[in-house]
Amino acid sequence: MKRLLLAAALLCATASTSSACGPDALGVSRTLPVGTLGGGEVGLKTYPRTLRLEPGEVVLTFDDGPAPGRTEKVLDALAAECVKATFFMIGRNAAAAPALAARVAREGHTIGYHSMTHPIMRGLAFDAGRKNIEDGFHAVDKAVYGVARDEPHSPFFRFPGFADTPQLDAWLASRDMVVFGADLWASDWEPESSDAELKLIFERLARSKGGIVLLHDIQPRTVAMLPTFLRELKKRGYRVVHFVPGPGPLETREAPPGWFSQTDRIIKGRKAAGAG
Ligand SMILES: [Zn+2]
Repeated sequence: MKRLLLAAALLCATASTSSACGPDALGVSRTLPVGTLGGGEVGLKTYPRTLRLEPGEVVLTFDDGPAPGRTEKVLDALAAECVKATFFMIGRNAAAAPALAARVAREGHTIGYHSMTHPIMRGLAFDAGRKNIEDGFHAVDKAVYGVARDEPHSPFFRFPGFADTPQLDAWLASRDMVVFGADLWASDWEPESSDAELKLIFERLARSKGGIVLLHDIQPRTVAMLPTFLRELKKRGYRVVHFVPGPGPLETREAPPGWFSQTDRIIKGRKAAGAG
């Protein structure tokens, strides 16, 4: 029930914000309630299924924040275009910047968790991984909402480096939490310029026809390119979908034929370079 009320509040907030936006702004084209009953996993980079988005629809997600001096600029850029996104926060970073973490939620963005200290969970014992995830729930909830209860406030989680384990997936599902991968990313952990990042992400968007995009609000190159990226999304006819917690089970669409998971490659890259 608490989550239903939260979803309703977010829907109202989105509606009222959108109505204040002019036609030139990118805006949110629709709000997508994501059912979490019984859990589940989405995101084609890791899983053979994803959210039911239409061609040209884009979901923006930002990982690893909040980061003072950077996340504010991301929030400003999103607000300037009346766009809502989802922020998968690291507990330790939220605890270090609680006012900034709270601002993210206050501005109508969806909150998700990304563990306490960003370990690669496949290298940890189950209990250690679970504790790191739970510590992340509590740290983010305390920072964002001022109180941490046993049940996390948000039903959304993303594994650091997409490195899930079957046991942790099952445990999260038992708590009615949905695990998010991504459908594409900007490779913004690589030492590329903002211009190169923009070019890459639009090439990938053209190929995938939209999807769940992974970005990092802690990356200066992403902060720098974001206003242009949002303007270009509008110009090129992409539509932003904002997902929120919804009732019932997760609804997905299956991966196209020939799908394969890139998780293992990404985990190896993460160990070397810091992806995800
Ligand atoms: Zn991460």
